[in-house]
Amino acid sequence: MSLKKTKIFVTQPHLPPLEEFLPYLEKIWKNKQLTNCGPFHHQLENELCDYLGVEHIALFANGTLALVTALQALKITGEVITTPYSFVATSHSLLWNGIKPVFSDVDPDTLNLDAAKIEAAITSDTTAIMPVHCYGHPCDVDAIQEIADRRNLKVIYDAAHAFGVQDEGGSILRHGDLSVLSFHATKVFNTFEGGAIICPDAEIKLRINQLKNFGIVDELTVVAPGINGKMSEFNAAFGLMQLQHLEGALARRQEIDAHYRNNLQNIKGIRCLKDAGERVANYAYFPILVEEYFPISRDALYNILKENGIYSRRYFYPLISDFPMYRRLPSAQPENLPVATGAAQKVLCLPIYPDLETMQVETIADLIAAQS
Ligand SMILES: *Cc1c(COP(=O)(O)O)cnc(C)c1O
Repeated sequence: MSLKKTKIFVTQPHLPPLEEFLPYLEKIWKNKQLTNCGPFHHQLENELCDYLGVEHIALFANGTLALVTALQALKITGEVITTPYSFVATSHSLLWNGIKPVFSDVDPDTLNLDAAKIEAAITSDTTAIMPVHCYGHPCDVDAIQEIADRRNLKVIYDAAHAFGVQDEGGSILRHGDLSVLSFHATKVFNTFEGGAIICPDAEIKLRINQLKNFGIVDELTVVAPGINGKMSEFNAAFGLMQLQHLEGALARRQEIDAHYRNNLQNIKGIRCLKDAGERVANYAYFPILVEEYFPISRDALYNILKENGIYSRRYFYPLISDFPMYRRLPSAQPENLPVATGAAQKVLCLPIYPDLETMQVETIADLIAAQS
């Protein structure tokens, strides 16, 4: 079978046999509670707290609503310093709250916000920092917290890529004031669509629970203009089933990561991003940088892979700061963001997902090698 006929996408969800999901559906059919924080919602919150090693989690219908609500919960206003090297939802959540994003450049090794550059972006209107653990690699959390403490800023992590990632002290989701996860179908752990906010205490979780349910406290009391951000029972049930398979899925991702590194290490002009010191990684993405001295351009390589049925993705190109709703901001100018601008020109995320076969990894690596 030629690769031309098999399309390999950058990611693909692992779906266990359908029969495995039926008992969950039967339970929903029996108790007839479809949403509004039912038994599966409750159970998934508990199991995720155990799995992730966090105290409090609030589930959401998707990660973007969770980001928007996290900003509301902390009453963030004015300006927020964030990274241009992410998925647009990061900055969009600021615009949805009437907040001005201020872009700051990234670190060349991790492609996370460069902590050394954050301070120069702070003004009297700055109220928070919103970093992203890009590709699941931890940000420089200590340096960011030090700046936040000294300048009296909140820190909200977009941890959409960082499910299950741990540093020396435990879950990286414990850092900052709040961390936000996405359980979109393309992520390491998915609930079809879904997301969550990791909360440091029961009080803020209660506030977030109100905000994700229209601001309702009880039948007679509404305390805030909340949104409908609730996760349904169907999604929560799927998440519970996924959790059963996660260990195997992560182990397979790790193998694929190792195969790629082995097969690409001697190709001049192809640089694999090195791990960023996490104790437990999640192998959510496999980014490579196509350097200038590689014989063909990043986009030419992207197209050759595509012609061969391999759909890599240019995460993150274009930069968020290049989209029309952002590009007129002074902080969005490429001169302000040289490292992010360079990375966006070079990056290619190769397919990585549990059902990707070793043979396919080797074919992809061979195809890249053949261009060198
Ligand atoms: C996927 C993603 C989101 C958005 O999550 P959804 O669940 O799709 O709304 C936000 N930020 C980053 C960095 C993401 O990758």
